[in-house]
Amino acid sequence: MSLDQKLNIAILGAGESGVGAAILALQKGHEVFVSDKGQIKEQYKTELNQQGIAFEEGTHDHERILAADLIIKSPGIPDKAPLLQEIFQKGLPVISEIEFAARYTQHFTIGITGSNGKTTTTNLIYHLLAKAGLDVAMGGNVGKSFARIVAERDYVYYVLELSSFQLEGIQEYRPDISMILNITPDHLDRYNYQLENYAAAKFNIVRAQETRDTFLYNADDPNVGGQLQKYPTQAKPLAISSSMTEGTRLKVGGFTFEMSTTPLMGQHNYMNALFAVQTALQLGIAPAVIQEGLNTFVNAPHRLEKVATVNGVEYINDSKATNVDSVYYALQAMTKPTVWIVGGQDKGNDYGPLLDFVKAKVKAIVCMGLDNSKIVQSFNGVIDTIVETGSAVEAVQQATRLASAGDTVLLSPACASFDLFKNYEDRGEQFKAAVFGVMSDE
Ligand code: ADP
Repeated sequence: MSLDQKLNIAILGAGESGVGAAILALQKGHEVFVSDKGQIKEQYKTELNQQGIAFEEGTHDHERILAADLIIKSPGIPDKAPLLQEIFQKGLPVISEIEFAARYTQHFTIGITGSNGKTTTTNLIYHLLAKAGLDVAMGGNVGKSFARIVAERDYVYYVLELSSFQLEGIQEYRPDISMILNITPDHLDRYNYQLENYAAAKFNIVRAQETRDTFLYNADDPNVGGQLQKYPTQAKPLAISSSMTEGTRLKVGGFTFEMSTTPLMGQHNYMNALFAVQTALQLGIAPAVIQEGLNTFVNAPHRLEKVATVNGVEYINDSKATNVDSVYYALQAMTKPTVWIVGGQDKGNDYGPLLDFVKAKVKAIVCMGLDNSKIVQSFNGVIDTIVETGSAVEAVQQATRLASAGDTVLLSPACASFDLFKNYEDRGEQFKAAVFGVMSDE
């Protein structure tokens, strides 16, 4: 469908993605109506009101939505939702906010997906490009939506974090550089508990790419490097592998980069850095500028974030570890006896892959969730001390009691946060506040 003529657009969902799409659609002269079945956040309502954009919340006006020429769907809404079924039946075109925004820029986009490491890698690529003086914006699944950025102004480079939900809805959008960092089970509730469906959504990122484009992929990951045949693309594939690391050095494109001078710790972060460095080299950024960028990088909070050391016990906030794989890498990076705070809303977790690290490194488990039965069951007989708690304060108190000088207390939950917290940021903040509470008690 051509966006050149004035369209009547209905936008489903009024979060960052829906509101960004609404702002861009209005700016481009379309008629816009936003509908959210839940409650819309105050900040977004204010924005919609300020822009004079019609919206509703708590309900979907089916008749009005079905009368639209085009539907823009927010990534949180699954295709199986009854309203979408009606929309599909009527044959109305449905596109995602990413697809919509992409149609309004001809400039260079870098699309980053994977189960883990997206935000870290997106931030790092943005930082390397910005340090090199390029006109670059960052967004997508982190920070501002792509549509909102395009509405702001047209940048020369866009670094976009893309979730599998966002990638489900892309059709013609082609990143100039795409990358799949890794694929491990996550969000399987949305994909009929089939890893294959989830992987297919991620591989959508390469579908529209052309011969001038590049696809960086994790060659070590059987779900990525092992599956290339299944997902044809015209893009030039470039393998990223842990064999490109040597101790604390990265070897990329004939150049060597030092990681010990960066705040990124652990093998997983070295992989993220390989993707970022390769991207920067593709864009012709000088190796010395890249090394400088690595040295000055500051990661987003809640990702193996060192909070404080109290009485010789180091507290680390890895609240963003919402699945088993990210906990695997967190535990791998631990060098001291660890009191592990874990739990929350289970996403169909299998804790089996963690057993070896848990046996080797974890001295006690502090469960933090409404229903901890699965964790208790999984580690009963493996770890002698397993305690259950129902808040961040309680969890930190118990962990502090169980830890001795020289130990680490690691919050790395492997679960979603919604049983006790607003989101993972809230969980991480409450954890940090509780740690500072322990400090002030001393
Ligand atoms: P995402 O945006 O994909 O969720 P983040 O960069 O926010 O990724 O990191 C999420 C969690 O995964 C953090 O706990 C982090 O330590 C861990 N992590 C980061 N990079 C990787 C990786 N390449 N493989 C596995 N885990 C990772």
